[in-house]
Order: sequence, then C-alpha cells, then structure tokens
Amino acid sequence: MIGSWRGYGADWTRRKASWLLTRMTDLIWPPVSPLSGEMVSSHGALSPADWQKLSFLEAPWCARCGLPFDYDLGEGMECAPCQADHSPLEHVRAALVYDEASRGLVLAFKHGGRTEGLASFAPWMARAGQALLSDADGLIPVPLHPQRLRQRGYNQSLLLAKALAKVSHVRVEPHLLARVKRTSTQDGKGVAARQRNVAGAFKIRESMLYKISGKSFVLIDDVYTTGATLKACARALKRAGAAKVSAIALARVIKPIDTTV
Ligand SMILES: [Zn+2]
Repeated sequence: MIGSWRGYGADWTRRKASWLLTRMTDLIWPPVSPLSGEMVSSHGALSPADWQKLSFLEAPWCARCGLPFDYDLGEGMECAPCQADHSPLEHVRAALVYDEASRGLVLAFKHGGRTEGLASFAPWMARAGQALLSDADGLIPVPLHPQRLRQRGYNQSLLLAKALAKVSHVRVEPHLLARVKRTSTQDGKGVAARQRNVAGAFKIRESMLYKISGKSFVLIDDVYTTGATLKACARALKRAGAAKVSAIALARVIKPIDTTV
C-alpha cells in the first residue's frame, strides 16, 4: 500500500480514485450547460441563463393530468378534457412545460446522447411527481421497439426511470411491458391518429404477469403530448390487473384550454 494512503481503507481509496477520474474527465470534456454551452461547475448542471429559460410546472393544476390552471379551482378539480374522458392514467405530472427551451434539452438528451442532464432531470421529476411516487410499487419506462432500440442505442425513458429510481427509491421494472408493434413517429399526428398508431403496440410479458396484479405503477416518458402512448401502456397494465397506473414525464405540451368550465 502507498504509505500516505495507509489507514484510510478501501472505501477512501475508491472515493479518491472516483474523484480523480471525475477531475480527469472534466479536463477532457469540460462540463457545459446543455442549452447555451457555457462552462458550469459540474456535468448536468445548468447555467443561470439556461435555468431562467425553462418553465417549471407548478400547482394549481388538474388533479388528473397535471395541466396547469391559471388560478386555484380547489382540491381535486379536473380540467374539462379529463372530466369528459375516462383516462386509464390515474395521475400525470411533468417537470417542465414543453417549449422551445425544454425542447432543446429533450432533443439533446433523446437524440444527441447528452445524458449528463439526467442529474438535473431526476430531481425535477421527483419533485413534480412526489405524490405519485409515495405509493408506487415500481417505475415502468415506456419501452422502445427492439428495432428502434438497436438504432438509437438506448431507451431515453429507461435512463430517466433509472435516474428517478436513485432519488425516489422506487425500483425500476423494465421488463413488464414490451413494445410489440413498430409504430411510426407520433410527431405531427393529431389525437386520433396518435391513438390509432399505438393501438395494440404494447403487451405485458406473460412471464411477468404475477408481478402486476394489485400493484401501483408509474410510467416514465420524456414528453407527454396527447398522452396516447402512455394511455396505451396504462391500458395494457390495467388489463393485466394493475390497481393503479400514473405517469411522470420530463416535459409536457400545454395547450390553452378553457379551465373555467
Ligand atoms: Zn386534466
């Protein structure tokens, strides 16, 4: 053993080695803010300017889908679409409004391999979905079709779920749900077309049925747009006996609606 390290033990040595590795990595790939490219103190951190560009979702919001209300309508109030539609999703929460700034973050993460943002995304999602996580039995990332997974190399929803598991201590269940139909992208499609596109796309793995009955799950995805994909996942889980299925997304599209109804 090197003399000066004597007596510090294996844990100290591992921590020191990890610290040195981090410093060396920072020298090769300096930590930069994902939107502006400004230098920041650590990987995954945002510069103050980038931080100010983001719009975080806050209550008051629809008790079911998390759509923000302009003013507090009272405990448990739902927006008009939720009142009209019996969604299989018990609750939906998202950390950010999906706008120009958060779109940059999501695209860099989803298609650009900029995974260092996970260090920020997970606590944001945990904060937004705190109530959903408190009684969850498992986090289920929206699965990619195997062919899409091979092309992209990673499932961004699984990375989000794993990061969220670390801060929420709710375990990830990545093998319960499978995407059995290779759907075309949902981008540019209306609500009905999105629903048709994902109809029958998700199936429960037969060998995993025993893990679902009576359990409460939280689906994890990057962006909530119309909810068609998450609802298709939730229907498959409910049919298999799940007691409750909710969802947490990193960002959600906000469409102006009349919340006074
Ligand atoms: Zn709603």
